[in-house]
Amino acid sequence: MSESGPRWVIQQHAASSMHYDFRLEVDGVLKSWAVPKGPSMDPREKRLAVATDDHELDYADFEGVIPEDEYGAGEVLLWDRGRYRNLREGISIEESLDDGLVEVRLDGEKLQGGYALTVMDEDKGHWLLVKMDDEHADARRNPVSTEPESVASGRTIDEIGEEEGGSGDGP
Ligand code: MN
Repeated sequence: MSESGPRWVIQQHAASSMHYDFRLEVDGVLKSWAVPKGPSMDPREKRLAVATDDHELDYADFEGVIPEDEYGAGEVLLWDRGRYRNLREGISIEESLDDGLVEVRLDGEKLQGGYALTVMDEDKGHWLLVKMDDEHADARRNPVSTEPESVASGRTIDEIGEEEGGSGDGP
């Protein structure tokens, strides 16, 4: 992993429906999308990514359980993270967000290489997350199902719930 550059993280989130929150550090906040199926490594796969609220930068380190009475209640797992590089030459990441095409190179433990986010319906906040066709594209790999463990703790989402939950499931 490189040690400089803006951060990115994907957090698996067992809220009312399971999804993967993809977050990019931009201007001191985490720009965020909820990806119901999670990222693919196959450039032919288009994954819906729904824009969600900006999060504080500190949230990129969060893993644990959001309590029942709070928004987004459920387990959160640090699924992958690293630093990214903007791949659009001469266009800032802020401009990329504004014009609806973000292309970044990721250097995570599970995901590497280029990923593109393309706006589909601006009013609904619907974007598509697609693996760019580069040396890291691999239609045979499916880390969402084969590599479920946290890159921070090695735990699964169920283990996080068992260890840190305790809301209503006790004896
Ligand atoms: Mn979420």
